[in-house]
Amino acid sequence: MSKKILVLPGDGIGPEIVAEAVKVLDCLRQDHGLDAELAHGLIGGAAYDACGKPLPDETLRTALESDAVLLGAVGGPAYDALDRPLRPERGLLAIRSEMALFGNLRPAILYPQLAEASALKPEVVSGLDIMIVRELTGGLYFGEPRGIRTLDNGERQGYNTLAYTESEIERIGRLAFETARRRDKRLCSVDKANVLEVTELWREIMTRLAGEYPDVELSHMYVDNAAMQLVRAPKQFDVLVTENMFGDILSDCAAMLTGSIGMLPSASLDRNGRGMYEPIHGSAPDIAGQGVANPLATILSVAMMLRHSLGEPALADRVQAAVGAVLDQCLRTADIHTPDTRRVGTVEMGDAVVAALRAA
Ligand code: NAD
Repeated sequence: MSKKILVLPGDGIGPEIVAEAVKVLDCLRQDHGLDAELAHGLIGGAAYDACGKPLPDETLRTALESDAVLLGAVGGPAYDALDRPLRPERGLLAIRSEMALFGNLRPAILYPQLAEASALKPEVVSGLDIMIVRELTGGLYFGEPRGIRTLDNGERQGYNTLAYTESEIERIGRLAFETARRRDKRLCSVDKANVLEVTELWREIMTRLAGEYPDVELSHMYVDNAAMQLVRAPKQFDVLVTENMFGDILSDCAAMLTGSIGMLPSASLDRNGRGMYEPIHGSAPDIAGQGVANPLATILSVAMMLRHSLGEPALADRVQAAVGAVLDQCLRTADIHTPDTRRVGTVEMGDAVVAALRAA
């Protein structure tokens, strides 16, 4: 049966990079037998401009009927002064939560052709291929009670709640073990069990789950050490699993090991494998409309979509190989350009990936 993909370009460079990813999807449909229908919708500032809401009902309804959502990015200075509930980022949080996308997969892969782009020494990062599994709908960002209150002595106090139920931990744990099982079979669970009771429970449940996945080697690491190890010796890791806020911070740190924000895709999955796929970067208002943004993170997000939601791992491999091929051809957008390579714009890069796919 034909798969349904909802395309949400969003704001800033979103429409430019998503247009290139759609070319890749169209090529897969025409030449490689992908059976999928595309629908298009609004989110973020573009949706606010059109109908006064960052997540229109129509967008959410179509997303809930789709197998996968491809998102560009949302936000921009024009929307920063809006009331919080109307801001573009609220639309993004709302669609993640309404679609119950609890599991965020963020690979940090350093293409050998881009080893010079990392701020770390090439020998520390070359060949890097790690996956961070971040819990996305629980923890400190969603815990109640939260707010700013005035104490009896008149002083104001800000407070949030870090809470996880056993089932929430088990759900993300299973996704992480399954992910490790498809890779090098090593899973590191990151917590702060020496200080936080909630992560003591996290550690207990991860340890229990390990009994069901005897082929996966489980280790535990405190989050402060994990941050240090990620920049000291990142290749020691295969898959890391952690709670929402720790994962937010560690995954940005891991992303920068690769030196190129324009290269990194992500997947956010629900319990049934339906997902939303987006580059990890934002809407880059500083370069929007100039035709210079790197579309490869969005194209690699299509590869993740093929693998995780559309059941097409062979096509995912082809898209990744096509990206490798254009890097081998020394084509580079401005963010990854070095003097000995050829600088291209967004459209030329997208066209080159499609040409590499056709040639495959
Ligand atoms: P950003 O990721 O948009 O940009 C950071 C820097 O990286 C900029 O210099 C930008 O030009 C560059 N960059 C980003 N993507 C690039 C690409 N594909 N090719 C080349 N260069 C690229 O982060 P920011 O500037 O902090 O935020 C800008 C806006 O994006 C804000 O409104 C923010 O709220 C929003 N944002 C959205 C998301 C999302 O939609 N998931 C994520 C982060 C930030």
